[in-house]
Amino acid sequence: MDTPPFSELGLPDTLLAAIEILGYERPSPIQFKSIPPALEGKDLVGLSATGSGKTAAFTLPALAKLDVKLAYPQVLILCPTRELAVQVCEEVHRLGAKMIGLHATPVYGGAPIDRQLRALRSGAQLVVGTPGRLLDHLRRGSFDASRIKMAILDEADRMLDMGFKDEMDELLAALPSDRQTLFFSATMNPGVSRLIQKFGNSPQIVEIEQKARTVSTVDQSYFEVRQRSKVEVLSRILDMNPPRLGIIFCNTKRSVDECTEDLVNRGYAADRLHGDITQQMRERVLKRFREGAVEILVATDVAARGLDIDEIDIVFNYDLPTDPEDYVHRIGRTGRAGRSGRAVSFVYGREIYRMQAIERYTRSVVRREKIPSVEQVEGRRADLVFDDLKERLESGKFDAYQENIDRLLEQGHTPTDIAGALVTMIREASGREGSPIEEDREPMRHERREAPRRDDRPQRDDRPQREDRGPRPDRPPGGQRELIPTDQGMTRLFLSLGKTHGVMAKEIVGMLYREAGLPDGCLGRITLFPKHSLVDVPEQFVGQVIDRTKTARLRGRPFRMDVDRGPQ
Ligand code: AMP
Repeated sequence: MDTPPFSELGLPDTLLAAIEILGYERPSPIQFKSIPPALEGKDLVGLSATGSGKTAAFTLPALAKLDVKLAYPQVLILCPTRELAVQVCEEVHRLGAKMIGLHATPVYGGAPIDRQLRALRSGAQLVVGTPGRLLDHLRRGSFDASRIKMAILDEADRMLDMGFKDEMDELLAALPSDRQTLFFSATMNPGVSRLIQKFGNSPQIVEIEQKARTVSTVDQSYFEVRQRSKVEVLSRILDMNPPRLGIIFCNTKRSVDECTEDLVNRGYAADRLHGDITQQMRERVLKRFREGAVEILVATDVAARGLDIDEIDIVFNYDLPTDPEDYVHRIGRTGRAGRSGRAVSFVYGREIYRMQAIERYTRSVVRREKIPSVEQVEGRRADLVFDDLKERLESGKFDAYQENIDRLLEQGHTPTDIAGALVTMIREASGREGSPIEEDREPMRHERREAPRRDDRPQRDDRPQREDRGPRPDRPPGGQRELIPTDQGMTRLFLSLGKTHGVMAKEIVGMLYREAGLPDGCLGRITLFPKHSLVDVPEQFVGQVIDRTKTARLRGRPFRMDVDRGPQ
């Protein structure tokens, strides 16, 4: 979706300056549609999922309305989980970086109350919190709700799912009736409608149209990569299958600059396009790209608009887009005119949610791939050198260097050694030595591995509790534990949903990062069975996972999660 620049949305300069620093080039659709009416003071219902940029969609108008000179709560943001509260508060600080005197604080359960009391007493103007703990503060008198101008419900549907209805009712009822309310929810259901009816003031509904698109001609896959390993992984993929022309999409200008610089330093013919590049420069870059002098173009969505080149054989989502429609536009640049195309996305931690939203939107499955190792890349590079060598030999177009070679032979070097040394020199001259990354040491996480199929094995509906579990004739001797050993420091957890419930490994991953607030990248192997799944988590997070997933749902279903006790 084409959106106008942030500067046209009516936001104050302090916020535009912060947006510029963050490198957001243009508003995402939900931001474009929500910010102007929210600034006008209208109540809103934003139907939008995580990853759409919804946090900035409500944070920007909230900050625009806030008076930093007044030392009492003016904006309240309600979130379902402490992790989300912390994330939202971080975004508030990022977007409010230029608002001198801004004081925002997260308030959530499970943390000592004293620090929160101090933060609230010291004049927090924006409070982000979970309903239970906020209500606690309201009742204690430590949270002054009487001068709240704007209330925001983030993930209203999830808060209701988690059973916060009564707390939300009480909190919202305590706010001034002339306040503005923004409801954000991924889905609309009777519970959310009731909330809107009861606490909203003729809200405007903002929905992002989701037209289903097909991108069937493009081979889509993703790699799980940390931010700091992205360039290395990118290089490895490029070296495994050097494209004729490729485009790398980034979400921000800064990311484009950094990625281009890294690629050029590694010896790739790369150049960049983004909003700050002059028209003249843009034309020059595009000409060189069309001619093949630049093989890799690094660009933002805006800058790549209007680019009409058929020979692009790979597109990278170096940063996953916030708008699934952008994903479709991006990958539609390859696989054109009957050619095959490849789209590769880099995903990490919670971004798996955005990938799921993209899969739903495009109605396609994006395959997970294993990062090629340094050795594989080295082997492939050598193969490519030999392919070129063979071609050169067959064409006969080379100088003989007879004298020099004869001299080496006379010195006792064998022809094989001479050729080997030459190829090594050619490879080294490319200057692209792979470097180890953390991902190399990790087993491929979230892989779907299954126990050998035994058709005679009855499928378990649910797992009995330990006390009533008898011997299990339905498991091979030694059982699952022996089939797939747990990595050191990991504990295997049992989850009472599996493939027949339509659950996918990445959904389990997404749910766990979100609900249990696990640090990115810490999950181990995930194994799906028809009626249950096994998940390896680091020992130190076992309690946290079991505790925090008690009220969570997967595919709309409640489930049970506890330590897998293996076969008895
Ligand atoms: P959210 O849906 O709020 O969880 O946002 C998803 C991600 O998109 C966050 O990492 C934001 O920092 C980022 N983001 C939000 N708005 C923009 C934008 N206009 N341009 C680029 N990135 C954005």
